[in-house]
Formats: sequence, C-alpha cells, structure tokens
Amino acid sequence: MRYETSGSLIEVLNQARAVKRLTPKVRQYCLYELLIIDEFGFEKLERKEVPDALSLFYKVIDGRNRRSSTAIITNVNFDDWTEYLGDPPLTMALLDRVVDQANLIPFEGESIRKLMKRQMRIDYRELKSRICLQELLERIGWKSDKGRGDQLRSPCPLPACQSKASSAGSNRKDRSFSIHASKNIYRCFRCGSAGNALDFWQAYRATTLYEAAKELIQNHETSNCTPRSSQPAKQQSPISHAAKLTGS
Ligand SMILES: [Zn+2]
Repeated sequence: MRYETSGSLIEVLNQARAVKRLTPKVRQYCLYELLIIDEFGFEKLERKEVPDALSLFYKVIDGRNRRSSTAIITNVNFDDWTEYLGDPPLTMALLDRVVDQANLIPFEGESIRKLMKRQMRIDYRELKSRICLQELLERIGWKSDKGRGDQLRSPCPLPACQSKASSAGSNRKDRSFSIHASKNIYRCFRCGSAGNALDFWQAYRATTLYEAAKELIQNHETSNCTPRSSQPAKQQSPISHAAKLTGS
C-alpha cells in the first residue's frame, strides 16, 4: 500500500523524469496493491511547477487500470475535472480510467480539517479561569468541611481515588481532598491529583483534555468564577446538574 498526495506524487514523478528514471518510477507505482492519492484538487495539480502534471498523473492511473486498486480522495466534482486539469481530451481519457469499475463514496459531514481547526480553537486559559471549581464540584454532589483559611476539605470525589480508598477500607474522617476556593485550585493528598477546574474534570471523567474542555463548554456555558458570597442561591438541585454534566 502506498499513500501520496497528488502534489507529492507529481513531485516524485517529475524528479524521476529529471534523472531519466520516469518509466521505472511509474512501474513502481503500478506495483502497489493499493495506491491512495489524497488532496486531489487542492492545488491545480502543481501545473505552475510542472506544466504537464496531468500527463504524469495519467501514466500512473493508466498503468494501474484494471490491475490494482487506486483510491482518489478529492473535493472536485467530475464535472469540474476538465477545468481543474486543464487538458480536456487527456482529462476525458483519465476520467474513463478512473470511473471504470469504480465505486464512488461520498463523504458527508464536517471535514476532519475543519473539525481539528475548531478543536484547536478552545481557549484553555480562558476556560480555566472561567469555570468555578467549587461550583463544578457542587454540581456533582460534592460536600465539604471548612478547612484552614478559604480551604475546603472532603473525601476525594475522583472515581479512581474512591475505588482505591474503598479497597483500603473506608474512613469517614477522610479529608484528603482540598480546594482553595479563592485560587480556584484543588489537590488530593491520596491520589496526587491536583490543578484547576479543567484538570479536575479531565480526571473525574477520565478523558482527554479536549473532551473535558468540550463538556465544560457545552454544559457550563453560564458559569463564571465569582466569589462564593456574591453568588445567588442555586435553583437547580446538584443531582440534575450532575446528570446534565455527565450526559446521563
Ligand atoms: Zn484523590
């Protein structure tokens, strides 16, 4: 199996031609059981650098025709191939070979590139400062004792830590988990987990940072980290919040 973008394929063929090795190179490309050609249509087949890119491309497609499988991934409709490739007769010959015994698989939905772009757009720093850890904990039914200063203490709510604790025998006075309400951070002395609200949610849900951030953004949109005393009493019960947050 071999993977190439249409650009890299043309480049390899063009370089082979420059050293008079085009025929063996084309033969090599014809031997792969499966050749995947990606990004066909992203650039005008590199016509600026390689004016006869289409004829190089055609040699490979023609050589593989009815011998081995070729997958072409493109966002160019067949109707637009002539315009994209620039040589109508050769394009028609190429299309004949491409569609001969071909399966067309249309992809629907968002492209992976767009999705990744959107993923990268999460402002983690902003999110960390916006999500109130204490409020997040209360939404999953967390109850604490007052510790020193603005510290609040309790047994650790992290599922992984709880299973460790129960196997070691439960301790009602367990206060290994503490949060610093004003600093919006937590620490557990038993499991060692520590950090901000985003770190906590990632550990609590045992998921990736991105998934944790996405859940917080989707379900915690209105939350703002404001001092405890200035917050109005909650209307909703912690149970229904927890259900919403965990998507159950
Ligand atoms: Zn813990």
